[in-house]
Amino acid sequence: MDLLSLVGMATKRRSDYFSQAHTLAKKYKSQPRLEERMKAESLGLVKGLRDKLMKWGEYERTILDKTLISALAACILGIKDDKTDRKLEKCWPIIVGDMMPPLVKFLAETKTYIDSGVLRLGDQTVDFADYNLLGAVPGAIDLGVDEIEGINPEEEGAAEASQGRAQGKTWPSLAERLSRYLATPTFAFYNLGLYMVAQDQGFKEMRRVTKHDKKTCIDCKNYGEQGWAPIGELPMPGKGCRCYDRCRCFIEYR
Ligand SMILES: [Zn+2]
Ligand SMILES: [Zn+2]
Repeated sequence: MDLLSLVGMATKRRSDYFSQAHTLAKKYKSQPRLEERMKAESLGLVKGLRDKLMKWGEYERTILDKTLISALAACILGIKDDKTDRKLEKCWPIIVGDMMPPLVKFLAETKTYIDSGVLRLGDQTVDFADYNLLGAVPGAIDLGVDEIEGINPEEEGAAEASQGRAQGKTWPSLAERLSRYLATPTFAFYNLGLYMVAQDQGFKEMRRVTKHDKKTCIDCKNYGEQGWAPIGELPMPGKGCRCYDRCRCFIEYR
């Protein structure tokens, strides 16, 4: 599906997405819980496609829906107040603009892998249970959380490439990649919701506060050192930094 038809479909279903996002936000109540839920759904969807429980068209449409609904739900969790829909209207074009172009590319790549037999439908040779969704490879050393935090994004990217798990060429790595559309971006969109509130409340300045661990990338470090800036001048977490959707900087307002 091309970008225009995807955006066209999304626009037609907008009010439906808004109401489903409200339900989702009410159910999961916090961004971390929403993210966990969407990680599980990424795995479920990829398994469903592999095990032929869903056809390609349904898989594609479901991913379009869930990408937008989870992003909207994350914004709602950030907004939290009674003028939610007015603020959500402002988030919508940002969500569509951020998520649709890479999503189209990602889906096209997946389709190519299926059509060319790189990913085989019905292939049961790899058990998803042998992987966790964070991309651990069977037999790899199980790092504790603190040690994982110590790996910087460049090292992590190189490790992913060498293990062939960032490309979506195996079913488990496809599930991990899908979670970077459905799950990890919820953090940035939660922050977008918070931003809409801060703007409404008349805050004049913002600053990006980095998580102080070795994983913080150089871009995030620079934003952190920059300190206070006029509201709207600093990018949201995950934008303008090389950790992308994995960025966990937070923003303060005054
Ligand atoms: Zn970063
Ligand atoms: Zn960051």
